[in-house]
Amino acid sequence: MNKYRKGDVVTVISGKEKGKTATIQKVLVEQAKVVLDKANLVKRHLKPRQDFQGGIVEMPSPMPWSKVMLACKKCDRPVKVKIVIENGVKHRQCKLCGESLS
Ligand SMILES: [Zn+2]
Repeated sequence: MNKYRKGDVVTVISGKEKGKTATIQKVLVEQAKVVLDKANLVKRHLKPRQDFQGGIVEMPSPMPWSKVMLACKKCDRPVKVKIVIENGVKHRQCKLCGESLS
């Protein structure tokens, strides 16, 4: 189930950027991936255009959302998230302390 939303601040929990925090720019539900603003950057060589000189630009690429975790303010660390449905509305809750993360 998709636990993430655009604008969420998450921590990367595996790979070479482990420990990095970034904001979710996009959630790709079908691919189970997220695009972060400053993690998993790839270098793209761009050709010059009218409004752009060209050159190497770093752009974020999608990464599996299993590699990121939401941070809980109360626990002060990345935590597992539980989905709770109350009155038909989905809420996210920290699995450790029960703090609402929505
Ligand atoms: Zn917590």
